[in-house]
Amino acid sequence: MNATAAASAMNDNARMNPTPIAIAGAAGRMGRALLVAASQHPEVVVRAALERPGSEQLGVDSGALAGLPPSGIALSDALDVAAEAFEVLIDFTRPDATMAALAVCRAKRRAIVIGTTGFTPAQRAEIGAAAAEIPVCIAANFSVGVNIALNLIERAARTLGAAYDVEIVEAHHKHKVDAPSGTALAMGRAAAAGLGTTLEQSAVYTREGHTGPRPDGAIGFATIRGGDVVGDHNVMFLGDGERLEIRHVATSRSNFAQGAVRAAAWLHGRAPGLYDMRDVLDLAG
Ligand code: NAD
Repeated sequence: MNATAAASAMNDNARMNPTPIAIAGAAGRMGRALLVAASQHPEVVVRAALERPGSEQLGVDSGALAGLPPSGIALSDALDVAAEAFEVLIDFTRPDATMAALAVCRAKRRAIVIGTTGFTPAQRAEIGAAAAEIPVCIAANFSVGVNIALNLIERAARTLGAAYDVEIVEAHHKHKVDAPSGTALAMGRAAAAGLGTTLEQSAVYTREGHTGPRPDGAIGFATIRGGDVVGDHNVMFLGDGERLEIRHVATSRSNFAQGAVRAAAWLHGRAPGLYDMRDVLDLAG
């Protein structure tokens, strides 16, 4: 069998045996987009939809919630019960909720796709520890375009070097609770990697009053919040006589949702480990 025929046989198998998934935060902005994206992806099937205890949406049919035909799956807050029915959990909630879901997935040996942002360093370390036991795919941004941008940013920073100042400007809707965005931080980490430094050493998150001149090697962040902006990110490399900008504009949540569902299908059956969207898209090399 040649490579094309082998890939086609794998796809046929995935369609005949779709990966059973669950969506945590199903009533949220991303949760609803995930329900729609999952309904359109032939290699996954939604087996559970989860919300926080006390949510008014508990008991509501997940299809009705997402503007789809009835699914027969009512929103539930019992993740440990639901874990009997799924292989991969997609979680776009809040950091504390994600940490609780991670513990259940670890105990039940289920894979997890994490889209939540705003983790503390200790929570990130805990996610890393869980990845020694279960497959974990985490990305601050599941869009294909952003992940290509991350590669470009790292390459640009490496080639342009210290002669160019890096500034990252991001804008999001007024409901977003963390700043800078997880994507802006990922872009900052990509630039830092290209420059041979880290965000811990180089990031400047606020400027006010008499700041003095810009420190050499700083990676600056600026945050805009308002309206219904889905997500704008602009990484500027400001040099002497020229400026390079690498910009990504998200126009709908569906691209994040489609990427996360693609990641869930890809993650099923993988060895334990910490993966990101560059692995899913085969951009890592
Ligand atoms: P949202 O507030 O609309 O939705 C979050 C949902 O999670 C809510 O419905 C809430 O009730 C639910 N929730 C809270 N605790 C829960 C629990 N214990 N169990 C189950 N559900 C629980 O927020 P959103 O805009 O959908 O964003 C959610 C997260 O995803 C944020 O951290 C956001 O930054 C992140 N996000 C990531 C990407 C990406 O590509 N990685 C893209 C968009 C948003």
